[in-house]
Amino acid sequence: MTYRIASECFACGACLPECPTEAIVEGAIYVIIPDKCIDCGACAAVCPVDAPKPD
Ligand code: SF4
Ligand code: SF4
Repeated sequence: MTYRIASECFACGACLPECPTEAIVEGAIYVIIPDKCIDCGACAAVCPVDAPKPD
């Protein structure tokens, strides 16, 4: 399982520095690269709108 960023994302950038594996990519909506995600949940913990969800 990995995390996936849902459409609630408003590109605030808070999750980006929290990811230990640099799995998150900037964009209009941020994206998680599944092969790099280790399912730690750090991105979800800091997201103000709970956009990263277990996929
Ligand atoms: S769950 Fe952890 S490893 Fe996966 S994208 Fe979020 S912060 Fe990165
Ligand atoms: S913290 Fe949440 S709203 Fe901000 S960029 Fe990451 S997923 Fe998107």
